[in-house]
Formats: sequence, structure tokens, C-alpha cells
Amino acid sequence: MSEIPCLTIGWLYPNLMSTYGDRGNVISIQRRCQWRGIPVEILPLDQQTEAEQFNHVDVIVGGGAQDRQQEIVMRDLQGKKADILRKRLEVGTPGVFTCGSPQLLGHYYEPALGQRIQGLGLLDLVTKHPGPKASRCIGNVVFEITASPLAEDLQQMLGEPPVIIGFENHGGRTYLGDVQPLGKVRSGYGNNGEDGYEGAFYGNAIATYSHGPLLPKNPFLADWLIKTALQKKYQTEIELIPLDDSLAQQAREAMLKRLETSDLGVHS
Ligand code: GLN
Repeated sequence: MSEIPCLTIGWLYPNLMSTYGDRGNVISIQRRCQWRGIPVEILPLDQQTEAEQFNHVDVIVGGGAQDRQQEIVMRDLQGKKADILRKRLEVGTPGVFTCGSPQLLGHYYEPALGQRIQGLGLLDLVTKHPGPKASRCIGNVVFEITASPLAEDLQQMLGEPPVIIGFENHGGRTYLGDVQPLGKVRSGYGNNGEDGYEGAFYGNAIATYSHGPLLPKNPFLADWLIKTALQKKYQTEIELIPLDDSLAQQAREAMLKRLETSDLGVHS
């Protein structure tokens, strides 16, 4: 490839949807590109953005939001913006969507109080909050990615089944229809604390309850997003320069040990 590859990260409503460290996912993609000499641009996709701009992103990041913010976002994410976002995900633009974002990509979110918030209906899932007295699903979560072909791609990268370590904090309980779960919960709540599933996977969109340490803690997932985005953009096979992830690996091992030796937060 003669031209220098570059990436544009589309960041959905940064001021409204960035709970619990979700900007960490944007920073992780940005830094892992820069460390490899790949120029990156971050484009906020929000109320000020012209709908047309949604067409100019190579990878999309959407974070979590509280119920009130989700409502504001959904009032803006209508018409042409919604159509373009839907189309981009349908044709396989990669992305990572956390907590409130997948709720909005589904059919609807029923908050603890107030009206149902209609979603984009792209993911066949619904989310219901059981009410203000119900406890939230909070804590560390460990799950194994099972969605195809993501699980196979990651298994090939890692030489072992892809295990994700994350942190969740949600009141809503998500129930999947005709969409693949992202993975199977080993420890924690996942989508609803009942069926053992975590997240969803559609096209190349990763929907998960794991917040913004997701990509820093599981850097192979960031690399999968970067590689997929570049391959789609340049229509050629891309090999990423390996990075030294030994610190992240040590953090993963310490956390796995902690979660495996404690039954705190085990709900699967
Ligand atoms: N408002 C949603 C819930 O509590 C999402 C919360 C979040 O994104 N952290 O389920």
C-alpha cells in the first residue's frame, strides 16, 4: 500500500456518553495507532455534527450514559443521523458500544422511572430497568467471547480462547432476540444476571456492558478493531506491528487471580 494508512474514530456524544472511564476506549485506540505511526483523528458525533459527517468515520466508539442523558441523545439521534449510523454498522464498520449505547442500538430502553426510550432497532434486543428499588449490576466481570467470527479471529491472534476482563455498572437488564451474544459470563452479571450472556455482536460492532477500561485491559480487542477498520478502509490485508503489552498482561493475570479466588461478584 503506497499511501500512509490513517484512521478516523467517531465518538458518539462524548459529553453525554462517557460514564465510568469510557473515554479510555477512545484513548486506547488512538494511542495504539499512534505507537505504530498510524495518524488518528477523533471526530465527535453529537448535536453539533452534520449528519453527513457520520459517513467519514472508520471506527465508532459509544460509551455509557445515565437515563437522562440517554433520552437527550435519542432526541438528537434521529432521521438522517440515525439512518447513516444504522447503515454504517450494517455494512460492517467496526465499533465498540458500552452499556447505554447498546441499549440505544436496541429496540428500546425502559428506565426505572418515566417513559420508554425508543432505540434505533438495529440490534434485536430490549432493555428494561426493574425499578428504582432494584439493585444495580455493579462489579468486575469476566467473560469469554463466543460470537463468530470474532471469537475465531481473536483465538488466532492469541492462541487461546479470548477472555475479557471488564467492569460493569448498569440498572437495565438486556434480553437478546435474534442477535448473537458477545460472550458467556464466567464471573459477574452480564446482560441481565440470569441467562449467562454478555453483550451482543452484529456486523463488526461489539456491544457490551464492560466500561472504558475494556480496551486498555484487553488490548487485543483494540487491535482487532484497528485491523478491521484499516482492512475495510483500504481493502487489503493489514498486519499490525506488535506492541509490548506486558503491563496489561500482568494486570489481567492479577485481576483473574483475584476474581477466581474470591466468590465476591460471582453471579453466573
Ligand atoms: N442508564 C443505563 C442503565 O443504568 C446505562 C448506564 C450506563 O451506561 N452506565 O442501565
